[in-house]
Amino acid sequence: MQPIQMVDLKGQYQKIKNQIDVSIQNVIDSTAFINGPEVKAFQKELEEYLDVKHVIPCANGTDALQIAMMALGLEPGDEVITADFTFAATVEVIAVLKLTPILVDVEKDTFNIDIEALKKSITPKTKAIIPVHLFGQCANMEAVLEIAKQHNLYVIEDTAQAIGADYSFANGSTKKAGTIGDIGTTSFFPSKNLGCYGDGGAIFTNNDDLAHKLRGIVNHGMYKRYYHDEVGVNSRLDSIQAAVLRVKLPLLDTYCNARRKVAEHYNHAFSNTTNLTTPITSSFTTHVFHQYTLVLHGIDRGKLQQHLSDKNIASAIYYPVPLHSQKAYTDTRYNEDDFSVTNELCKTVLSLPIHTEFEEDQLKYITDAVLEFCK
Ligand SMILES: *Cc1c(COP(=O)(O)O)cnc(C)c1O
Repeated sequence: MQPIQMVDLKGQYQKIKNQIDVSIQNVIDSTAFINGPEVKAFQKELEEYLDVKHVIPCANGTDALQIAMMALGLEPGDEVITADFTFAATVEVIAVLKLTPILVDVEKDTFNIDIEALKKSITPKTKAIIPVHLFGQCANMEAVLEIAKQHNLYVIEDTAQAIGADYSFANGSTKKAGTIGDIGTTSFFPSKNLGCYGDGGAIFTNNDDLAHKLRGIVNHGMYKRYYHDEVGVNSRLDSIQAAVLRVKLPLLDTYCNARRKVAEHYNHAFSNTTNLTTPITSSFTTHVFHQYTLVLHGIDRGKLQQHLSDKNIASAIYYPVPLHSQKAYTDTRYNEDDFSVTNELCKTVLSLPIHTEFEEDQLKYITDAVLEFCK
């Protein structure tokens, strides 16, 4: 058996090589490297896919979050609430803007922001909530929106891991992840579900005024060439990346289904294994399985990883350290008891390889190896 990595970008590329190579070559031939027609076309196509009024492409998912907060006019000292169990980018940009990050615990079943913890963290200084749709399924947006409405807060959805997921409201209507709050953000980092061949990101909104502001901020605060109405940044999706994304966007749903199939295979294989908890999908969301994450019970995680590694199977810990315990983000106001779920998850989660190119025999090889250790 060939070594099994967490993702198989090479296998995916081989299947679309002709289209990708032609698209990239076209950009090179045109020399329209920055803000070329490919970027505009991708923007339109993503707006259609997401059924959102405005997509503003930018340089990466971290910038997308920062620019979203700049557009909302948040000011130093304003409190922004996000989840303790996620990638650091979300809390990082809050801190970069001199806003005050308030981290809250997550739910143990879904790994997404805990609604009760969120409610308890609201103060008169709270200005925004950033739910992260972790590992590929949406946070409880109906509850988040209700809290936001009650307290007059902005909602920014970090959709870096869940592009393509569908959220269902109690009234039966559905929306794409990232188009539910005031602003949604995503990343096109190569290993994300819709990945380009370098860095890339985008911001979504249905609000015309916010869209105008966001478009200015990504471009040095310029609305008219060489007139800078506000402090902006330089954050662009380059044309070559847009050309790659235009080939891959029509395949996103197929890719999501392929990931779901892998998850189903794993779930089925581990269904009788009491020392493993398989991922649970909330009723209000589809899951696009950016990660397939197990929770281990009474199993030595390091030894299991070694056992898999001996068989050339990669595995990963997303995430090993709660954000509130990271040196950069500790805060005397935090109380350890308020992070019991995240603290426990950081010690017990293990993510298995998941991507769009698996063969049955590879999946069986992985599940056999896990079961050999965990039975
Ligand atoms: C990947 C990721 C980001 C950052 O995206 P970059 O494009 O790497 O800057 C932000 N939030 C989450 C949850 C992510 O997974």
